[in-house]
Amino acid sequence: METLNVRTGRRCEMVDVTAEVQHAVAAAGLKDGYALCFVPHTTAGITIQENADPDVQHDVLWKLDQLVPRDEDGYRHGEGNSDGHIKSSMMGVSALVPVEGGRLVLGTWQAIYFCEFDGPRSRRLLVKCVAG
Ligand code: ZN
Repeated sequence: METLNVRTGRRCEMVDVTAEVQHAVAAAGLKDGYALCFVPHTTAGITIQENADPDVQHDVLWKLDQLVPRDEDGYRHGEGNSDGHIKSSMMGVSALVPVEGGRLVLGTWQAIYFCEFDGPRSRRLLVKCVAG
């Protein structure tokens, strides 16, 4: 298992980690199989989205904020980051990406994004390379 360190700079942010995941696949010597990307945090997530227009990342974060506001009267959790927990569950904490010939198989416009919902923080992204 490879561990990637992800330093986030804002409270909510999408960080393109595609190159780092590709590096982890190479470091593991995986030629054909899968890269299981796993986020071991409860206020962060992972998703695959468009890498061409940064407005897409803005729109995803903007809509999540609209759906799950940071401050709302109904939250009970005392840390003040209930929105981050909910957004983490919405986006999910894992992504499974096929690997062929040592390369991640992604669409032309796809990138893997680490999603920060309670930053800025130092985070980890685990990459488990599975042959098959
Ligand atoms: Zn919390």
